Amino acid sequence: MRLFDEKKILRFLLLFAGVFFAAFIPEIIQSSHNVAFVVPYAMADVFLIIVAITYRFPIIGSRRKMRDDVDLVPPPPTSALPTRDFQKDLVEKDELFQMMVDVSSSGFWTFDVATGKVYWSQRAAKLLLADPLKVDDSFDFLKTHILESDWLRFKDALNTSLENGEYFSVRVSLLQSASANEQRVQITGNVQKNEDGRPVRIVGAINECIDHTTSEKQNFYAYRDALTGVYNRKFFLEKLKIDVDVALQRPDYVFAVALLDIDSFGAINTSYSINVGDSVLRIVADRIKAQCRPTDTIARIGPDVFAVVLHNLQSKDSDSEVLPLVRRIHNAVKMPVQIEGRDLYISVSMAVALNRDVDCVEDVMANATASLREMKKSVNHGGIQFFSGGIREKAMKLYKLEFEIRRAIQAQEFVLMYQPIVDITKGNRIAGFEALVRWKQSEQGYISPAEFIPIAEDTGLIIPMGALILRMACIQAKQWVDLGFEDIQVAVNFSAKQFAMDSMLDDIKKVLLETNLNPRNLKLEITEYTAVCEAEKTIEIMKALSNMGLQISIDDFGTGYSSLSYLKRYPIHTLKMDKSFVDHVAEDEEDAAFARMVIGIAKSLNLDLIAEGVETEEQLNFLKDEGCRLIQGFYFSKPLPPELALGYLKEHYKPVDSVCRS
Ligand code: C2E
Ligand code: MG
Ligand code: MG
Repeated sequence: MRLFDEKKILRFLLLFAGVFFAAFIPEIIQSSHNVAFVVPYAMADVFLIIVAITYRFPIIGSRRKMRDDVDLVPPPPTSALPTRDFQKDLVEKDELFQMMVDVSSSGFWTFDVATGKVYWSQRAAKLLLADPLKVDDSFDFLKTHILESDWLRFKDALNTSLENGEYFSVRVSLLQSASANEQRVQITGNVQKNEDGRPVRIVGAINECIDHTTSEKQNFYAYRDALTGVYNRKFFLEKLKIDVDVALQRPDYVFAVALLDIDSFGAINTSYSINVGDSVLRIVADRIKAQCRPTDTIARIGPDVFAVVLHNLQSKDSDSEVLPLVRRIHNAVKMPVQIEGRDLYISVSMAVALNRDVDCVEDVMANATASLREMKKSVNHGGIQFFSGGIREKAMKLYKLEFEIRRAIQAQEFVLMYQPIVDITKGNRIAGFEALVRWKQSEQGYISPAEFIPIAEDTGLIIPMGALILRMACIQAKQWVDLGFEDIQVAVNFSAKQFAMDSMLDDIKKVLLETNLNPRNLKLEITEYTAVCEAEKTIEIMKALSNMGLQISIDDFGTGYSSLSYLKRYPIHTLKMDKSFVDHVAEDEEDAAFARMVIGIAKSLNLDLIAEGVETEEQLNFLKDEGCRLIQGFYFSKPLPPELALGYLKEHYKPVDSVCRS
């Protein structure tokens, strides 16, 4: 309610004046008989009174007449009042505005004073976490989606705005916030009036309230690694691009990229825990920070890989300036880490590439990564490798080879050779073959597995390649069995990655079934390393294979793990003594002693022993004298293509029944 109404006061004053002047009319008639004066006086007074009673006064000053109160429940529409449908108005009169409403990130609403109807835009409904299809045309819709206290505040603000015609803004909390954090929106409104100054509608907007602390945090994590607080990979690469661009414009600008990889980080996670792994990463990040200058850029660009850009070096020609810097970082990071009261020793490999001859981020990163790969592969990994031209060439060669291997798998360019394994105690009877893969290339002929198996293992290509090899060997063995060589056994090399596959057992069963090969005709060769990896799981798999009737050999025996205790626990049938121990048995007493020891181990564990790489008669005689009966080597035969292997088989095959085991 307002205290003064200017219109009423004016009306009262005019009426008062009209009555006041009317009071003089009889006196004027008496004293003046001049009709020309009396009539206009009387008419003017009557006009004054008519104006006071009937005239609707315009606004006085900036204050306008408002409704005293707004009933938010819409009044029944009367035919006298023109009804407005804002949405319809928009569609009909201003489609462009409607489109702007639709694409805006703000939600819009409008309240029509005459009808009491409210229009909500789709975006407004979404911001209120409501289904746009369930929107109604009243404020009840809002009431059901915000806190009650906020609803009361909103109602007050709306009424005040209708009264005084001023803009209002209220922040309200949503009821159905899906996240744990409270979600708030800001509702604003402004009164629109007609020519008379009467409020006809309120046009308003709804916007998301942006919590500045949250957005700051989001910004922080947009370029920081959440675990260690150093920069993340994305930011690092962006920053590096700036360095590269600067160097392109200023040839004297030198910088270096240093990569730091924690060796065997996976083992820390699995042997301790992920929490310990996280602590190690944080400590490493802190140690790197402590050794770097404030201007250097430090980032975590992989799970266990950190990168540092050392800016503004003095000379481009020598690595000597960078070496002390990276050595300092390397030494600091290598220090034992105290975890759960114990010292944990970590080894790190580092690689450094300067911006020599590079004109893009990809090149400088490729140089650093190739150097890191080189360091990780070398026997003395855990050191620092500086980039040199040869490294990149080597990396390119490897990359090309990987590509070629992929293609060769598809093109079925891998073939198998079969090297005989001979039983010297049974008239050089053939006991079996080892299947050895070769890459048959049209130009270069056969490529040795030593050139491509390690890459296939590194890249995981050994899985499809191994599957192909197993199938080829089984098909071949089945052909020989069908030709009457029923006891023939074909040994297939299996890599650690193949053995670790969960589907490995099923895959073997499937191939045996499909090729219709009896498991006793198949043997798997795995290295000691494969055998001891995930020992418990491996023992289970080996037992299952053994129960199927399939035999297992430990290949290159003596070159891997020194612990012999595992041999007792594994269901294996054969040890294969590595060629390096056979090479000098005839002339070197130490090698001879070692060979005797291996033969003794096999005998005491009741395992078959195959001596690999036997080339000379002296070697053969030594092994024969020591009681080794199974021999594989060039002395008897090189690996043979299938047709020659069949010839060898025909010449040297004797069924097991016809010979008695020694
Ligand atoms: P391995 O399994 O120990 O195979 C024995 C290697 O010794 C073969 O080399 C064979 O040709 C060679 N060899 C046998 N007797 C003699 C000899 O008297 N003198 C000399 N100098 N060498 C002899 P190859 O075929 O080059 O294979 C090398 C290695 O590549 C294999 O060692 C094995 O680890 C791997 N490999 C070969 N084929 C396969 C395969 O199909 N799958 C997997 N995963 N690895 C394979
Ligand atoms: Mg082998
Ligand atoms: Mg071997």
